[in-house]
Amino acid sequence: MSEHFDLLIRGGVCALPWGLEALDIGAKDGRIAALGVSSHASAEEVIDASGLHVLPGLIDPHVHLRDPGDPKIETVLTGTRAAVLGGITTVFDMPNTSPAITDSDRLAWKQGYVERQSWCDIGLYVGATKENIDSLATLELGHGVCGVKVFAGSSTGPLLVEDDESLERVMRSGRRRISYHSEDEYRLQARKGLFKNGDPYASHMAWRDEECAFLGTRRLMALARKTGRAAHILHVSTAEELAYLQDFREVATCELLVNHLTQVAPECYDRLGGLAVMNPPIRDQRHYDAAWAALRNGTIDTIGSDHAPHRRSDKEKPWPECPGGLTGVQTLAPIMLDHVNAGRLSLCQLVDLMAAGPSRVYGLIGKGRLVAGYDADFTLVDMGRQRRIEDSWIASPCGWTPFAGMKVTGWPHATVVRGQVVMREDEVVGAPSGRLARFG
Ligand SMILES: [Zn+2]
Repeated sequence: MSEHFDLLIRGGVCALPWGLEALDIGAKDGRIAALGVSSHASAEEVIDASGLHVLPGLIDPHVHLRDPGDPKIETVLTGTRAAVLGGITTVFDMPNTSPAITDSDRLAWKQGYVERQSWCDIGLYVGATKENIDSLATLELGHGVCGVKVFAGSSTGPLLVEDDESLERVMRSGRRRISYHSEDEYRLQARKGLFKNGDPYASHMAWRDEECAFLGTRRLMALARKTGRAAHILHVSTAEELAYLQDFREVATCELLVNHLTQVAPECYDRLGGLAVMNPPIRDQRHYDAAWAALRNGTIDTIGSDHAPHRRSDKEKPWPECPGGLTGVQTLAPIMLDHVNAGRLSLCQLVDLMAAGPSRVYGLIGKGRLVAGYDADFTLVDMGRQRRIEDSWIASPCGWTPFAGMKVTGWPHATVVRGQVVMREDEVVGAPSGRLARFG
């Protein structure tokens, strides 16, 4: 008797942990059941992947879905729709919503809410405050929680934890890897007075200079080594930090943003104005080159979009009234595929950084690799497809992307979450059936 699967992916070139291999994949009950399937096997659904590459479902470990917040900008429903249109099967959502996810009641609400609203699987960050440090050890073990997020700078209100004493207490509060926004808050505030309203948008990188980021990371690394608590430095933006972090590999992993690998100052500020403003800022060629060098030498563990949409009208305000943050979850994979086609990294490196890497750093269970028993999450990509990214393609209600007009080669063809096709050829299929991801 021949085998029968729920889903068969035939004829694709698969990005296995040990390299690219042409084979057929069978999925059953939402998980990968077989790598290499005989031609006699049957299935409820067969995807013809000839001419396509089959990647493990790509993960965006850094999104702000703004929910609860302002549904005219983004929601879990719209932001995860954008994710699957862009070939992403799992997102990790940041806690700085309105209100923020900082206690067990709000976390319980969010856990129930996202499983009715999400198109892809989802992990939730819990935000640290100076008031909730004693409950972080419990909160970080909650269902679907990918970890604690600390804003050591660049936040407002209760989510800001900027002083060494509080940071050390946070590090001594639990045991999972903590994710940090690392910009030194004191230096940010001290330098604010050097600039005035209406200065050029490029002032953003002068205000939040290299030393703001580097000083923040030096302080965090000293405390991480002192306490032994593992740290994940989000959106590393300077050559100095990338060199420094290599000496802290026993406690530190790090993330790069696609923007810092794609856009360069001052050109981006001249061309995009407020649409280029993000934190930490896009910097000059020296830092761009250092980011690519660090990616190639293995310093980088994950790549994220830092999807953080705002209204276009707010982004068009003069600097520094324009808020920091960019739409990005939908364009992350297409742009990284374009970088692969341009020879800047290999497809296997992309898979390591966008699937296996996030899984390893956050302790994600059953995702990030094409192996038997793992979730049947797949991103099928057409490496030869040429497209132009347009605002009209963006599913987030804010309706804009800083990459509008960019021509890319390589495009997500289909997105499969736990054996269910949720996107095929730019169409979202079925209904939102995302679940909370599981973490060890
Ligand atoms: Zn962020």
